[in-house]
Amino acid sequence: MLNRNYEAFLGCDCPYEKADIVLFGAPFDSTTSFRPGARFGSKAMRGESFGLESYSPYQDRDLSDIRVFDSGDLELCFGDAETALADIEERAGIILADSKLPVMLGGEHLVTLGAVRATAKRHPGLHLLHFDAHADLRDEYLGASLSHASVIRRCWDLLGDGRIFQFGIRSGDREELRWGERHITTQKFDFAGLAETLAALRGKPVYLTVDLDVLDPAAFPGTGTPEAGGVSFPQLLDALCAVCAGADIVGCDLVELCPVYDQSGTSTATACKLLRELLLAL
Ligand code: MN
Ligand code: MN
Repeated sequence: MLNRNYEAFLGCDCPYEKADIVLFGAPFDSTTSFRPGARFGSKAMRGESFGLESYSPYQDRDLSDIRVFDSGDLELCFGDAETALADIEERAGIILADSKLPVMLGGEHLVTLGAVRATAKRHPGLHLLHFDAHADLRDEYLGASLSHASVIRRCWDLLGDGRIFQFGIRSGDREELRWGERHITTQKFDFAGLAETLAALRGKPVYLTVDLDVLDPAAFPGTGTPEAGGVSFPQLLDALCAVCAGADIVGCDLVELCPVYDQSGTSTATACKLLRELLLAL
C-alpha cells in the first residue's frame, strides 16, 4: 500500500487502490558520464505539468478519463548504484504485484535496470523496446559495469539475444555497435521498421524505455548528453502511440530529462507533454 504524494503530476490524483497506472520518480544521476542533473527531472515535471491541459487533441482523451496514482520520488542512495537499483526494483515490484502498470520518471538511464529487473521477474518472456540517441551497450564505462552507458547491456544480461529492439540510435563506440549487431536489433537514426517490430512482438510482454535524448537537441536541449540529428516531437509522439496501440506494455519509463540545461523550460514542458500522451495512450 502506497500513500499519496504531496505534489502529483497533473491529473494523476486517483487513489492507489483504484489506479490502473502508478507513476514514480527515480531521481538518480550518479553514473552520468557528461553533464549531471537528471536527478531533478521527475520533480521538475510534476511542477511544470500544471502548465499543460489535461486534454489531448491528438488522442481526444483527457487525463480525467484514466486512473493514475503518482507515488512521488524514491529517496535513492547517490553513492551506490546497486542500492539505488534495489530500491527501484522493490518499488516497481510492489506496483506489479498489485496488478498495476508502473511508469517511472528518471533520473539518468541506469534507473531502467531496476524496473526491468522487477518486470522480468514477473514476466519471464519480457522484451525491451528502447528509444535513445545512444546504444547504451558498453560492457563497462570507466570500469563501472553499472552505468547509464551500459544499461541496455545489463538488460541484455537478463533478457538475452533477440529480445531487445532499439530505435533512433546515432551514437556509440564501434565495438558496442558491432556487439549489438550480433545480439539485438538496432534501427539507426529513426523509427523505420517499428510497425514490423510491433507485429513481431504481438502477444509478448514489452517494457518500453524512452531516453528523451532521442529527440533532436534543437527541440530538447535539457539533457545530459545531447546528440545532434534526433527525431522530432511529432515523430516520437507517433511512435509512442503506435507502441501503446500495438504492444502489450507491462512497464515503461521516461528518462534523462535534465532541466537545468534548458533555462527556457521547453525541455521540461516537452517531457510533460510526452508523459501526458503516454499515459493517455497506455
Ligand atoms: Mn540512454
Ligand atoms: Mn541517450
